[in-house]
Amino acid sequence: MQDPPAIAIIGAGIAGLTCAHELAAAGMAPVVFEKGRGLGGRVATRRTTEGAQFDHGAQFITTRDDDFRRVMAAMADAGEAVSWFSRDDEPHWVGYPHMSRIGHALGAQRNIVTGCRVRSVTPTDDGWTLALDHENVGFDQVVMTAPAPQAMELLGQDHPLASVLARVRYAPCHTLMVTSEDRAAARPGPWRPEQGPFNLIAREDSKPGRPPLACWVAHTTPEWSETYLETDTHQVREQLAAAFCEATGVPPDRIAYTDVHRWRYARVTQALGQACLQDDTGTLWIAGDGCLGPRVEAAWQSGRAVARAIRASI
Ligand SMILES: Cc1cc2nc3c(=O)[nH]c(=O)nc-3n(C[C@H](O)[C@H](O)[C@H](O)COP(=O)(O)OP(=O)(O)OC[C@H]3O[C@@H](n4cnc5c(N)ncnc54)[C@H](O)[C@@H]3O)c2cc1C
Repeated sequence: MQDPPAIAIIGAGIAGLTCAHELAAAGMAPVVFEKGRGLGGRVATRRTTEGAQFDHGAQFITTRDDDFRRVMAAMADAGEAVSWFSRDDEPHWVGYPHMSRIGHALGAQRNIVTGCRVRSVTPTDDGWTLALDHENVGFDQVVMTAPAPQAMELLGQDHPLASVLARVRYAPCHTLMVTSEDRAAARPGPWRPEQGPFNLIAREDSKPGRPPLACWVAHTTPEWSETYLETDTHQVREQLAAAFCEATGVPPDRIAYTDVHRWRYARVTQALGQACLQDDTGTLWIAGDGCLGPRVEAAWQSGRAVARAIRASI
């Protein structure tokens, strides 16, 4: 019997972790390279030394695909996810006790190298070379799950898939993270302001299992973030903190902590419309939310589709 191919997956977001999980279930041993310290990509949690925690990327996960519904239900049974609230009988899942639990649950027992940025991906006679910070590593097949502009950078403009990746569009988002000394302040739960820079404000401690501290995340509209994309973080933070106080009624002198995270590629606004891509060598694959759309579920579907396509191809 032939040895299974050596497969590298770039990115430990939901697409990359799902792909790794599916390939491992088929007896393969992919290696996942992740530039960040944690797992989950844009399904992320930030913590402060004072004990506050913020799910500063995706707020909740909804399911339309029956298989994904089963995945989330299994995570709930395992105590790794919980429904934050339901709308029309549809649970809006969050990780338990924080959003990044989802990535950790999907990535459990996989070979994942964190804090490792892939610098380039170049074809060789019999596969691909990944340039890492201090070494080059060879693989038979590569799955790229970074947002399309970042995947394009790794491949280079001359790669035949570059023009396809260029069709994917993303909207940016700034996430303001706030704590207040006043637990009674402002209403719990997520709400969508109709005016101002924010399109969603969520009270973190209204999610099950969170620390009993008054913590919020507030996401800006795509239009606001386009305008302030390159503005200095300090200035953005000041401006958003003032808008937050106005929107919530929390007095500025009750704010204990603020920080801002800028997501340059937050939500897909134009997807490819196909679950994954394969280049003409048959050994380089593209997956991620850029394939099917701006949701965690779409990233999961794409990660699973690419794993199935790899299995079918060997
Ligand atoms: C602010 C915000 C709010 C959102 N709200 C929701 C929501 O409520 N519900 C919902 O369903 N979706 C939401 N989304 C969208 C959802 O988070 C994404 O669609 C989904 O998580 C994308 O997963 P992915 O695996 O495709 O990509 P990512 O999560 O971006 O994963 C790609 C990974 O690749 C890594 N990477 C990139 N380049 C390299 C490199 N060179 N070397 C190594 N690693 C690399 C990145 O660090 C990242 O971890 C939100 C997103 C944001 C930003």
